Amino acid sequence: MTRAAIGLGSNEGDAKAHVRGALERLAELGSVVARSALYRSVPWGVIEQAPFVNAAALVETALAPRALLGALKQIERESGRIATYRWGPRVLDLDILAYGDERVDEPDLTIPHARLSERAFALVPLAEIDPRFVALRDALPPGERAAVVELRPQ
Ligand code: ADP
Ligand code: MG
Repeated sequence: MTRAAIGLGSNEGDAKAHVRGALERLAELGSVVARSALYRSVPWGVIEQAPFVNAAALVETALAPRALLGALKQIERESGRIATYRWGPRVLDLDILAYGDERVDEPDLTIPHARLSERAFALVPLAEIDPRFVALRDALPPGERAAVVELRPQ
């Protein structure tokens, strides 16, 4: 079993519901050992779109990295994600942020996630539940970190 860190994001329709639903479905991949709060973040890359709801989870899984990616893509598809443009709006985005201490460097799969160290929307939720990422989060520019705000539980 390996502890995988999964990043979740949505900015279409009921984004909170999409992220909450996906957090529930992560139980299909193994045992969910931690879940962050939900956060609101300003879009990155392409700014003319709705804010994202983001979260992170840690899952103890028996799935190998590629099988895990396949399972996450299936959950994305079943949640109605439509391929738009890179960094465009999406119903649900599920990323493998880390997979134990392993590194994967293939054309369509890079672990740790290639842009993790520059993405406040991924690092802020992840550092909440995994102390290994606190230093990376704290290295973010303060303004970027402050743009990722915890949503009040309701
Ligand atoms: P992003 O998540 O970077 O905003 P996408 O979700 O559109 O963008 O990602 C597109 C592709 O990125 C996926 O089809 C997948 O093959 C690839 N990819 C590479 N590394 C990873 C990873 N660690 N987790 C998820 N997808 C990844
Ligand atoms: Mg993705």
